[in-house]
Amino acid sequence: MKIENAFQNVDSQTQLVGLLGWPVAHSLSPVMHNAAFAALGLNWCYVPLPVPPEEVANAVSGLTAMGFKGANVTVPHKESVLPTLSNIVPNARELGAVNTLVLSSRQDGVPLVTGHNTDDRGFIGALRQGGCDPRHKQAVVVGAGGAARAVVFGLLWSNVDQVTVFNRNMERAETLKAELGQRCEEDAKRIKVLPLEPETLIETCRTADLLVNATSVGMAPQPDESIWPAAVPLPQHLTVFDLVYAPLETRLLAQTKAAGANPIDGLGMLVRQGAIASQLWTGQGVIDEISATMRQACERALSIKRT
Ligand code: NAP
Repeated sequence: MKIENAFQNVDSQTQLVGLLGWPVAHSLSPVMHNAAFAALGLNWCYVPLPVPPEEVANAVSGLTAMGFKGANVTVPHKESVLPTLSNIVPNARELGAVNTLVLSSRQDGVPLVTGHNTDDRGFIGALRQGGCDPRHKQAVVVGAGGAARAVVFGLLWSNVDQVTVFNRNMERAETLKAELGQRCEEDAKRIKVLPLEPETLIETCRTADLLVNATSVGMAPQPDESIWPAAVPLPQHLTVFDLVYAPLETRLLAQTKAAGANPIDGLGMLVRQGAIASQLWTGQGVIDEISATMRQACERALSIKRT
């Protein structure tokens, strides 16, 4: 993917951040972060850093050695990077995954690498911006992978009344419930897990307020797939949040619009988690404004990709 607004002015003062993942070539992160740095007038540059799984610890040492200010961490390193860090902030520790590293040094010069997770706040911020406050609501989450964990965690912290998690692989769903419900008995009671079957999903959504797709169903190259059956209209009162953002309007969101329900696309979460990370690194900007700049850059990149 072409990286706009970056590299033209790289000089000895440029501050570096990057993306540790494997692979990283498809990522929108360089496009959106470099657009935000340019909009903020910062001499910062974000670079993709493909790191094979066995090199994660070396890569983190390399970042400190080369004076990077931070990094994002994506699949498959979000959990495996944890033992290489000096500090892990509480929400990342509870989630058992980080997506952002902030590099600094102690007064005696010892380098510090702090792991954060901005996915849960990115999701909740995008949900609220889409007109849904999850407080005291009934939520349904389809999926039990890394993204679903951040979503369920964010919903619990935002005082959702009940979250029902549907997944094909029930063992994975039970693990999610056991790990995210361990903070207190109240949280454990608020999470329910069920096998992913259309009839049960339809029945549960009749009385729910929010449906979240946290699976890869509907993502390119299978954009015609949906977690919701084609022959059944979605309940009109639902807010439907699809974490998939390529395509931006998924089949599920088209079904949501056709039913007159409230659709929220996955780009909102992507840019908010990115905006929070950007602010952690630079201390600059306002989350809503950084998110808006990042969204514009992503939409441009996605439309260029389509043509
Ligand atoms: P992951 O850890 O690999 O989990 C994938 C999930 O999708 C699992 O629950 C899996 O179910 C389910 N799944 C896959 N294919 C399925 C199918 N055909 N039918 C039913 N369920 C299926 O992936 P992840 O990191 O959680 O990401 C999930 C999606 O969220 C991806 O599309 C990713 O791009 C998107 N995402 C978006 C954002 C954002 O900012 N918008 C952030 C993170 C992720 P099983 O456990 O049964 O296999």
